[in-house]
Amino acid sequence: GFAPASRISAIGVSEILAIGARAQAMKREGKPVIILGAGEPDFDTPDHVKQAASDAMQRGETKYTALDGTPALKAAIRDKFQRENGLSYELDEITVATGAKQVLFNAMMATLNPGDEVIIPTPYWTSYSDIVEIAEGRPVLIACDAEAGFRLTAEQLEQAITPKTRWVMLNSPSNPSGAAYSAEHYRPLLDVLLRHPHVWLLVDDMYEHIVYDGFDFVTPAALEPRLKDRTLTVNGVSKAYAMTGWRIGYAGGPKALIKAMAVVQSQSTSCPSSVSQAAAVAALSGPQGFIAERRDSFKARRDLVVAALNEIDGIDCRVPEGAFYTFASCAGMIGRITPSGERIASDRDFTNYLLREALVAVVPGSAFGLSPYFRISYATSQAELQEALSRIAAACAKLG
Ligand code: PLP
Repeated sequence: GFAPASRISAIGVSEILAIGARAQAMKREGKPVIILGAGEPDFDTPDHVKQAASDAMQRGETKYTALDGTPALKAAIRDKFQRENGLSYELDEITVATGAKQVLFNAMMATLNPGDEVIIPTPYWTSYSDIVEIAEGRPVLIACDAEAGFRLTAEQLEQAITPKTRWVMLNSPSNPSGAAYSAEHYRPLLDVLLRHPHVWLLVDDMYEHIVYDGFDFVTPAALEPRLKDRTLTVNGVSKAYAMTGWRIGYAGGPKALIKAMAVVQSQSTSCPSSVSQAAAVAALSGPQGFIAERRDSFKARRDLVVAALNEIDGIDCRVPEGAFYTFASCAGMIGRITPSGERIASDRDFTNYLLREALVAVVPGSAFGLSPYFRISYATSQAELQEALSRIAAACAKLG
């Protein structure tokens, strides 16, 4: 019979994908299920970006490219880091991969020895711990609940660091919580890291442009230049430019790390897609105005969802600073009884109930390492959100 390698045997199938599959199956049975699960903007890739890809194809840019990014894309990324983040990276301090997900994968494969520890605040984007496990490292999960603003504190970080700690992974704004770290939030954490020179910092700035209420986005390598030579600043075009399917992510970091990551990439994908890289050049170098328009649209949806959730007795939703997710507490639902007599014992029971009773698919906090919460992705139309929220409210009202 078949037995998987031990390095993947501990990793389950993504719960988010499993919920999506179940919701799709219900849809095929004719049930009007609303899926608020996907972490994907509902906007289209901008036309000038598509045009750049098409032009690249016509020019014959359809072959293997340089291993970890074309010179043109690396230059566009260098300019982006300088322009938007005040960060100076040389071209050999920049890597491009098939999505930020592969950037993370390359980084962990290139640096972790078996048993090396990676500190990950929860709730976290599920791939963080799974990628660490595939690379045979040990995720060290630290609970950061709504009262803490879903942010890691300096005390928690200090306590979690051991001689085996290789990395700390921070994600601001966060998937799934939408919480973001301001300069004031980052400062004490960076001070701790300054005292522990063996610990490296991976920051995932994927949702940098999706921030609200004038939130001032900052990235640690710019905030604390003394940490820049052990920080990997990860970003990508998937969310800001609605380019999830193009699969381009990138990072800036110390040259030796970038070189080691290229070794991993050279024996997995060889290079990112040539046409997608040309598209990413256009995205990063072209007009940026539509990002603010889309952000305003996301903000209106955030406000709608947060207000509707907080109207429901038993649900408590913190106002997220960014991304397109709410991560609401359903602690008040635990112990309640469904109309068919079942007891809601966990956030998973609650989200299963919402799928059955309200025909709305959301993801339980357990999928992100923190309970009892549930995540809504509000990257969908206001009309659909309104319908989903009124169905959720009606289903919650039926719980005894
Ligand atoms: N980082 C975070 C926090 C994300 O939510 C995602 C996608 O969901 C990614 C990274 C990966 O993005 P991609 O691989 O599409 O660049």
